[in-house]
Amino acid sequence: MGNEKGVCVVCGEAARGKPAIADFAIGFMRRARKTLGAKPVHTVCCEKCMPECKKRRVGFESAKRTYLVLAALLFFGIVGSGAYLGADNMGLVVVAVVGALVFALTPYLRYAPRFSQD
Ligand SMILES: [Zn+2]
Repeated sequence: MGNEKGVCVVCGEAARGKPAIADFAIGFMRRARKTLGAKPVHTVCCEKCMPECKKRRVGFESAKRTYLVLAALLFFGIVGSGAYLGADNMGLVVVAVVGALVFALTPYLRYAPRFSQD
């Protein structure tokens, strides 16, 4: 079956459903909740919300790919033009890294977990 008790990530109801597959973002949120002293929640997706979950995951994955390309373009754009202009200082690299990180993390604002399909 693979159905586990938890809180549905879409409708927010306590339900039985497919468990979310733990990844970097879920591990981070679990640690954050633990640090804040919040009760850990088991994220699942109930049967009726599964189509919505899949749609969100597809949207998140394509956003992640797009933003990774943008982050790389931004990074090499800043570092490259800096080097071209002869301004290859550390400050520029820091700006490029921070800018690229912001781009790379933007899709996580609408993060959607993956769910086991069995
Ligand atoms: Zn639901």
